[in-house]
Amino acid sequence: MSVFSHREFDRHELVAFHHDPATGLKAIIAVHNTRLGKGLGGCRMYPYASDAEALTDVLRLSRGMTYKAALAGLPQGGGKSVIIGDPRRDKTPEMMRAMGRFVDSVGGRYVVAEDSGTSVPDIRLMAEHTAHVGGLAPPGDTSRTGDPSPATATGTFIGIQAAVRHQLGREDLRGLKVAIQGVGNVGRRLARHLHEAGAQLWVTDSYAPAVEHCVTAFGATPVAMDAIYGLDVEVFAPCALGAILNDDTIPQLKARVVAGAANNQLAEPRHGLRLLDRGILYAPDYVINAGGIIDIHYEGPEYQWSVVEAHLRRIGATLTTIFERARAEQRSTHEIADRMAEEIFRPTARG
Ligand code: NAD
Repeated sequence: MSVFSHREFDRHELVAFHHDPATGLKAIIAVHNTRLGKGLGGCRMYPYASDAEALTDVLRLSRGMTYKAALAGLPQGGGKSVIIGDPRRDKTPEMMRAMGRFVDSVGGRYVVAEDSGTSVPDIRLMAEHTAHVGGLAPPGDTSRTGDPSPATATGTFIGIQAAVRHQLGREDLRGLKVAIQGVGNVGRRLARHLHEAGAQLWVTDSYAPAVEHCVTAFGATPVAMDAIYGLDVEVFAPCALGAILNDDTIPQLKARVVAGAANNQLAEPRHGLRLLDRGILYAPDYVINAGGIIDIHYEGPEYQWSVVEAHLRRIGATLTTIFERARAEQRSTHEIADRMAEEIFRPTARG
């Protein structure tokens, strides 16, 4: 298993492997770039089929965090960690404490937060052994859960406003037709923002009660899962799965804007170009869904939602800059976003 010649290796500053026989912990920490600050990123626990698969994931995800933090205007770099194991079967408190010691051993270059397979209580166990944790409310503060979904939903709503303004020349969302794929933690809250702004909603979800809630609370129209792509709407907001912008779905789209919170929406980078060819404006996922990382940044004793919200508004301004540059250069928005991020965290890369 190679590291330096790995296809996902991209000048990562640190890749550390750790095995703790006493707890069974097998973990990797990757720090991609710390030029703007410590490498912040979640700890993902997943039953990877092989060590190589875990390495691929941690290299890719940590790099993505650098881009996300840079365009979110945060003084942070990109990092990520993975634990090889099934969170339902293999996770123990002692293993989480061992992970905390591992995080501590890299001396603050990596700051751990929750991700799929880990939760706030797990991060609290890690915090017994390291100060390098993010996204935790102070002990005893029960006013917040540490769930970043409300901030992600608000940021996504602000991003949709920016995309609609740019593409459709509309300030007002009243009567705007929006299709939302996935109305879970983020999608449900996004639906509420859109409903309050007067938008008309079509929703789908593999979990029927989630759809029912939106029908009752926001007057949304329920749609079969496969039908969500081809609706005659102005905005398609993917808030469930990755890779949903692909060779099958892009030809079906009637929406002129794709803007939603799901991660890794483009199946491949070339699908960004296909959207451009079809005249569909795509809000790059890691820019529009940065609300969660912004929220985590402000977590702590001084937390104030008004401060978080003011920062979330910058997502709209950043997207507008991306859209304008993409239009001027006739390039895809995700390519422009990547380039803008690199100009921030690697300013001499092109020099
Ligand atoms: P969630 O699990 O709460 O909600 C996802 C919803 O999608 C669920 O209700 C699920 O039933 C539904 N779903 C699954 N497969 C589906 C399908 N094929 N068609 C339609 N619906 C389907 O997750 P979430 O926290 O709301 O996150 C949604 C997306 O946003 C994910 O891609 C996540 O990675 C991304 N994201 C979330 C945050 C956050 O703060 N939660 C931050 C950044 C990015």
